Amino acid sequence: DGLRELLLSRIADVPDYPKQGVVFKDITPLLADPAAFGALTDAFVSLCERYEADKVVGLEARGFILAAPVAVRAGIGFVPVRKAGKLPGATLRQAYDLEYGAAEIEIHADALAPGDRVLVIDDVLATGGTAEASLELVRRAGAEVAGVAVLLELGFLAGRQRLGPGLKGAPLESL
Ligand code: IMP
Repeated sequence: DGLRELLLSRIADVPDYPKQGVVFKDITPLLADPAAFGALTDAFVSLCERYEADKVVGLEARGFILAAPVAVRAGIGFVPVRKAGKLPGATLRQAYDLEYGAAEIEIHADALAPGDRVLVIDDVLATGGTAEASLELVRRAGAEVAGVAVLLELGFLAGRQRLGPGLKGAPLESL
């Protein structure tokens, strides 16, 4: 189908951002095109149905933008995973390694219930560190990972390989 071509045509390459030598994938043209954003949302909703998800977890910040309309259209709850220090309630926190340094993300401790099946949504899978840490949080919060879905996978960074063990057999879909 033409979905892949449509989506790719609305992602811009920004050279030397955020630093020299890196080509940043900018999804703002896609967000500005309701046909493309709508088609992307529909595709994520189909994955929710296929994997019988009953919660959508969005990863800060672009994952929020993509996951929120999916939750509404699928008729299931949205749960944010945020950078440490942003959520007001009691949280679970997970640290992970970046190329230089480390980062921490959090989820509200009571956001998920045992038996919940969660689809984790983000814009870009790069090294897989963010997704890996989010799967840890989902499981520590007592829920089951139904799958991980991203708009774009940067294959040369081998995130799929890094994330593999953390998926424990759950699917990784890149649209
Ligand atoms: P990872 O943890 O290395 O897989 O990086 C993935 C995270 O960084 C995601 O939350 C993305 O939003 C962000 N990210 C990494 N590279 C890009 C990019 O080229 N465009 C947009 N976001 C990116």
